[in-house]
Amino acid sequence: MYNIAVIGSGPGGYIAAIRCAQLGFKVAIIEKYANALGGTCTNVGCIPSKALLDSSHHFHDANSKFSEHGITVKGVEVDFTKLVERKASIVKQNNDGIAFLMKKNKIDVFYGEGSFVTKNKIAVKAADGSKQEIETEKVIIATGSKPTSLPFITIDKKRIITSTEALSLSEIPKHLIIIGGGIIGVELGSVYLRLGAKVTIVEYLDKLVPSMDDEISREMLRVLKKEGMEFYLGTKVTGATAKGKNVTVTAETKAGEKVELKGDYCLVAVGRSAYTANLGLENIGLKTDERGRVEVNENLETAVAGVYAIGDVIKGAMLAHKAEEEGVFVAETIAGQKPHIHYNLIPGVAYTWPEAACVGATEQELKAAGKAIKTGKFPFRALGRARASGDLDGFVKVIADKETDEILGVHIFGARAADLIIEGVVAMEYRASAEDISRMSHPHPTYSEAFKEACLIATDNRPLNM
Ligand code: FAD
Ligand code: NAD
Repeated sequence: MYNIAVIGSGPGGYIAAIRCAQLGFKVAIIEKYANALGGTCTNVGCIPSKALLDSSHHFHDANSKFSEHGITVKGVEVDFTKLVERKASIVKQNNDGIAFLMKKNKIDVFYGEGSFVTKNKIAVKAADGSKQEIETEKVIIATGSKPTSLPFITIDKKRIITSTEALSLSEIPKHLIIIGGGIIGVELGSVYLRLGAKVTIVEYLDKLVPSMDDEISREMLRVLKKEGMEFYLGTKVTGATAKGKNVTVTAETKAGEKVELKGDYCLVAVGRSAYTANLGLENIGLKTDERGRVEVNENLETAVAGVYAIGDVIKGAMLAHKAEEEGVFVAETIAGQKPHIHYNLIPGVAYTWPEAACVGATEQELKAAGKAIKTGKFPFRALGRARASGDLDGFVKVIADKETDEILGVHIFGARAADLIIEGVVAMEYRASAEDISRMSHPHPTYSEAFKEACLIATDNRPLNM
């Protein structure tokens, strides 16, 4: 008998399992795919996409940036097979790393599809059809999400593909048409643009990465256009078909203009949906909400006592670090502790180059809520560090309360934004004012100085380097 069985080994599930083990519980983790611990994030998400982004970034720099540093390289070529093999080996290293962590924490791993027999009994069906049952006091559902499509588009996984196939193509597309200008669209679009493909994004809304601050979206659009990516914003896709090696995507602009695009691959990146297929939720009387997600209360416990759910399978941002926080939260809640998650302070990142990263509220959200605010915006091109590296695009934007000066949102588009944003998270966690940050020493020369300068502007409009 286990104290806790975790179903799903993504960043939510495996981190929950480790925290439960640290707290002294006897833990089992069940993963559908044999020897592939780590879920979407490790196998077909965060890790492989960043491996491809980094490889393609090097190629792009060698072709277009080295010369400005006085470095001449001739005959730069991509060995795409090797590039994809490298990605696969990085995924494998992460799979093995998580398997090591399970062993280290004495967590029993069961490979196979888990489904509820009762709330205390989970059947595990392995790929070879063999079955076993696990008895447990409590269960954490961490089964994650899968890509969605549009009702009128058939994903054939060859020419009309999802992010999963886009991470393992056998050739560089000639013309990749992407439906959806969200995070996956801009990240995987960047990979293939840098490798030489023509890339066209068709986005329903009027802006790229709609969840981000309007100014960040506009700056990203400007930079990606400059790099050669093509866009149809405010354009609704109405169809996508494949014939042989060709795809045709049809769409309609807001003004009613018809658009027809022809390419060799079409990536459908219109979001993901919670994954609960074959989980046997009906056997314990659990229903999903209108979007197929498992419903939970403020303790992330479902309507069935002792059954919890975390990560992409429940409401909220579909992010690996959100799933991790929830894994820790549930483990500590079960142990009788009183953990807390500040959902407003979970940062979001798009790994374009430059990167976009944000935490807290956007300017448009605060204005819509009638909040009196002030903003400070500092461009990277005014920084010595940015001039030295040649990464001049972008800015840091800090939004503060007009009266109290408390920081309410930080939005960055620029080199290393993904790593810089944590200063905004710490500032907001401790409810810092813009002046607090502006009075802290920031190392020179670094990109982080843009954050200090943006705070100086927000608090008193007195930048030192502009
Ligand atoms: P998942 O990671 O989806 O894991 C669920 C696991 O449960 C899977 O291994 C699945 O096989 C298993 N499972 C499902 N049903 C069963 C069952 N019945 N029995 C046993 N096992 C089962 N997020 C970021 O924060 N940063 C990024 O850079 C980032 N990049 C991404 C790039 C791409 C291309 C994609 C698609 C996603 C990316 N994400 C990123 C999102 C991130 O991957 C997810 O938010 C995260 O993986 C969710 O974690 P999870 O533990 O909830 O579920
Ligand atoms: P998304 O929600 O970020 O973007 C989907 C986009 O598709 C939206 O902009 C939407 O307006 C558009 N769209 C929907 N229907 C359309 C239509 N008919 N025509 C044209 N456009 C249409 O979803 P995603 O990019 O598929 O990513 C899925 C999830 O994975 C996200 O929740 C994201 O958080 C996560 N993810 C995170 C990262 C990261 O953290 N760096 C990277 C990749 C994925």
